[in-house]
Amino acid sequence: MIVGIHPLAGFDKLLHYRVPEHLRAAAAVGTLVRIPITGAVRLGIVAEVGAPTDFPIDRLKSVIDVVYPFPALTPDLLQLARWMAGYYACGVDSIIETMIPAAVRRGAGIKQQKLLAVAQPLTADEITALEKRAPQQARLYRFVAEQFRPQPKALVLSRLGQTAAVAAALLKRGVLREELRRIERVAYSDDHSDGELVAAQPHALNLEQQRAVDALAADIQTGKFGVSLLHGVTGSGKTEVYLRAIDVAMRAGGGVVFLVPEVALTPQTVARLRSRLNAIAEAATAGAAAAGGQRCVVWHSHLSEGERLDGWLALATGEARVVVGARSAVFAPVQNLKLVIVDEEHEPAYKQDETPRYHGRDVAVVRAKASGAHCLLGSATPSLESFHNAQSGKYRLLQLTERVDNRKLPHIDIVDLRIEAMKQRHLPTLSGRLVEAMQDRFARREQTILFINRRGYSSSMQCKKCGHVEECLHCSIAMTYHRTDETLRCHLCGDQRPAPLRCPKCAAPDIRWRGLGTQRVEEAVRRALPRARIERMDTDTMSRKNRFREVLSQFRSGKIDVLVGTQMIGKGLDFPNVTLVGLVDADMSMHVPDFRANERTFQLLVQVAGRAGRGDRAGEVMVQTFTPQAEAIQFSRHADFAGFAASELKVRHDFHYPPYRHLIHHLFRGPNPDKLKFFSEQWAKLVEKNLGARVELRGPSASPIEKIKDEYRWQLWYFTNAVTKVVPELARLRAEFAWPDDITQVLDVDPVNLA
Ligand code: ADP
Ligand code: ZN
Repeated sequence: MIVGIHPLAGFDKLLHYRVPEHLRAAAAVGTLVRIPITGAVRLGIVAEVGAPTDFPIDRLKSVIDVVYPFPALTPDLLQLARWMAGYYACGVDSIIETMIPAAVRRGAGIKQQKLLAVAQPLTADEITALEKRAPQQARLYRFVAEQFRPQPKALVLSRLGQTAAVAAALLKRGVLREELRRIERVAYSDDHSDGELVAAQPHALNLEQQRAVDALAADIQTGKFGVSLLHGVTGSGKTEVYLRAIDVAMRAGGGVVFLVPEVALTPQTVARLRSRLNAIAEAATAGAAAAGGQRCVVWHSHLSEGERLDGWLALATGEARVVVGARSAVFAPVQNLKLVIVDEEHEPAYKQDETPRYHGRDVAVVRAKASGAHCLLGSATPSLESFHNAQSGKYRLLQLTERVDNRKLPHIDIVDLRIEAMKQRHLPTLSGRLVEAMQDRFARREQTILFINRRGYSSSMQCKKCGHVEECLHCSIAMTYHRTDETLRCHLCGDQRPAPLRCPKCAAPDIRWRGLGTQRVEEAVRRALPRARIERMDTDTMSRKNRFREVLSQFRSGKIDVLVGTQMIGKGLDFPNVTLVGLVDADMSMHVPDFRANERTFQLLVQVAGRAGRGDRAGEVMVQTFTPQAEAIQFSRHADFAGFAASELKVRHDFHYPPYRHLIHHLFRGPNPDKLKFFSEQWAKLVEKNLGARVELRGPSASPIEKIKDEYRWQLWYFTNAVTKVVPELARLRAEFAWPDDITQVLDVDPVNLA
């Protein structure tokens, strides 16, 4: 028997091997095997069985062994790997390596446990006799016999205060038997640290939810691929819809992948989801799942190796059929996949920022397609890409327009910083109105969250008087101020001009830079509320492992009055006592050099507002800005997604941005700027010549960050609507181009962070 094998990273090629007799039964497509390559033992995945080869068979090497006696990659994952390699211009080997967690590749550390079970039930008489002769043995027998399931031997003996000899006697007589079981290390399983743990019961659905669930159920049951976009305002009960859809998929015997952003995987949400999902799984299988096994696997980047391996094994063997996890859970070996859910589908965090640079949401859609599953994308603020697909009929749009229990969306109050700046001599970090509102909440023992979005590293220039921000004439994004040579530059096309000393619009001399951080905000809060308990939450303060959870649980229990932080506070958290949410600087996310800046700002505002008023009390949201007239702000006031999308899509259309065309980013790095410039220009010419009709090039130009650690950076943009044709061409040209050794290049298809 001959098989074609994809080695894991290092060899992007299908290699052929013979399979020795004793491994034949196990060497199916998708199986992880060990193979000899150039004298070393490596891992590979069986990609084809019985592959034809013109290589003389007797010279083929043999597979050494099979790592697991079941496929590590399902057929849909293998198909997905090939698609990703083409789409993202990287080797199949590196994709396969990404799909199989390191812990699984190492294959070590499967922990086993001995269980005690009854082998031969004793009659009442026999038990009485045993009680007289050996009372300890009788006690042990009765205990084990009373249990619903086999119990861990060590645990039983220590509970009864008995020695191993007692068990040994019963084992020897064949009354009890020992079983070996893999021990599951279950992430967060015993986490009750925030004292909020209630086994959530299913809610009776409201009309809109019911309509969405009915539509999804029909789709899931057809067993055909399709995509639905669930657009539901914050607090509209999207999670309940997801759970019902999961129920349908599992009752139909299918498996489920449920993706959520990493930051939303707090112990609280995980515990809630797990209890519901376990109940669903149990009902769907009528309790027939393996005894003691886990039914719902949780998957995120903080798992220990053992936890990850156990979760993976449970899915690969079919013991568990549902995984809830962050981006990489899209590769979990779920069997018979029927439903893929991507919650908060607009989240940029779904994009991986290292090779392979895949987008979890897009990959989720493709995986669903490969396995004939339904894909459900959900958000209060869908990405314009997904919304556009829904409008064009490619996806089906499901809508939840109302909050559950008729709770009101909070009132959004815009604080015009231009007026504040005029009233006070210098511009304070917090406006008088925001300070007053915070003091008012503090007096009433209610809580406040202040958001400060620090995304973006560079400063743009903004007029203090009229709020004007200089934009590029060609790209409609904010120009960036470069202090070194006093210029404004466009980070997309490289256009530049001298930085003005006065505002180009109103001629005021007060041009300032933007650059507020969480620390400055925290200081300002301390000044405004000297007696309040204040906590700052950002990646700087949250580096200690459990700090994030500690702070959140203190905040929930009311030990903190004001929480200052980046968006990491926001996701999926319910704080009923929070009645004020302040966004300190809405402009910061709006005037970054990224064509998605407006979209991000709109998303930020709507999501932040969604944090307020989750309890019985109405919430208030205050947004500080120099540009209150901006569309992202005006539309978010009324949570008018449709209005925003229509207006923003028009801009995207006019400037040929996604979703109307795909963007590909090409980065060149090297120690010598002149050489870098020269070669990227030569390269651009080559691309122009070969692909001219299919792509529009912008650049090459210096990158937004021109130099990192003494390495210079240049970039080139490709705009295209034929990505699947252009990328392979680029990959081919790139392989032929005579790159100097000291230039590194990175291709990023559909990048999400331009700034
Ligand atoms: P979203 O994700 O859409 O912002 P959630 O799924 O977090 O909203 O739901 C908000 C709250 O409403 C949660 O506490 C949830 O348990 C509750 N909820 C969901 N559906 C219902 C319903 N049909 N009736 C009552 N409460 C519900
Ligand atoms: Zn001005």
